[in-house]
Amino acid sequence: MADNLPVLKPGSTLGILGGGQLGRMLIMAAARLGLRSHVYSPEPDSCAFDVASEKTCAAYDDDGALTRFAKSVDLITYEFENVPAETADFLVSSRSAVLPDPVILATTQDRLAEKTFLIDFGIGTAPFAEIGSEVDISVAAVQIAPPAVLKTRRLGYDGKGQALVTGDSDVAAAWKELGEVPAILEGFIEFEREISVVAARGRDGSYVAYDPIENIHRDHILHRSLIPAGVPAAVGKEAVAIARKIADELSYVGVLTVEMFVVEKDGAHQLLVNEIAPRVHNSGHWTIDGATVSQFEQHVRAIAGWPLGKPRRLGKVEMTNLVGDEIEGWKKLIAEPGAALHIYGKREARPGRKMGHVTRVKEK
Ligand code: AMP
Repeated sequence: MADNLPVLKPGSTLGILGGGQLGRMLIMAAARLGLRSHVYSPEPDSCAFDVASEKTCAAYDDDGALTRFAKSVDLITYEFENVPAETADFLVSSRSAVLPDPVILATTQDRLAEKTFLIDFGIGTAPFAEIGSEVDISVAAVQIAPPAVLKTRRLGYDGKGQALVTGDSDVAAAWKELGEVPAILEGFIEFEREISVVAARGRDGSYVAYDPIENIHRDHILHRSLIPAGVPAAVGKEAVAIARKIADELSYVGVLTVEMFVVEKDGAHQLLVNEIAPRVHNSGHWTIDGATVSQFEQHVRAIAGWPLGKPRRLGKVEMTNLVGDEIEGWKKLIAEPGAALHIYGKREARPGRKMGHVTRVKEK
């Protein structure tokens, strides 16, 4: 798709599907480069609406609204990966330019398709078995001896659609609890740490990755990201190479994030890919204040057909999410020298809701 698209010019309008904080930060980066933005989201209080040049609040299956949206923009991208396949198909069939190519969503929206894709290309993942119906449970429990993690194939994020299984008998109960939807049973990985690689691939196949990021989760939600990750240089290099292999195989255009487990055994490290996010990512927020080119600018450059930036890291960086009522601490943070505070402007601080983040850059 990318080959036939015109290179965007400043003054063009970027259409963004999804109205969360990723869209909001994408818009701010795009605006700096002279691009306008039109956000499409079904949620009336989407925080990206506040900074968009234009907004459409409509359902993802509203063909009329989608058609008007598509006509008003020069290029469409998305800020979340669960864009319904029918929406993406509708936009593509109406000859809209959409990047990254929505065919990628079929792989990244389904944990089974994603894992199968990775294995086909010789990339390590946690061992897993498919659960499509009750009869699969006993086979899966033998293949993947607990402890294991049961995950719905679709629509899981921040620990939603997941259950830890500690004994054989629990698999059936856990599956029932998840609504008996198609799932995978994944071996529980005793990882040393979790890392992610945020990388961009341009329309011309150019590739630029940020230094691997170490991620610390709390209640299944990203809590802190540390850069650089505390892994040996060779492991970091391998992680960046894995992300490149994935981006190349998918002929990807834009920023993509690969989450991995680092497993240590007898002094040797192994990388297992946990998830591919076809978008800018929470673990990449540090790039706004801690690098010369942010992940958001990099995504805009990639999809616009512009050269990728060559980001330089400005020091040792730490990003901390402000979740739920942690945002109440803003007064203290805004007074902290060197702390870069980001508030997403969401109206209500519900538990588990990402409300903002703070980035601290220290000397190298
Ligand atoms: P996910 O939704 O797959 O990104 O999982 C959310 C978090 O749950 C991960 O970042 C890990 O901390 C944890 N997790 C997921 N899968 C596994 C696994 N197979 N073994 C151990 N921890 C896991």
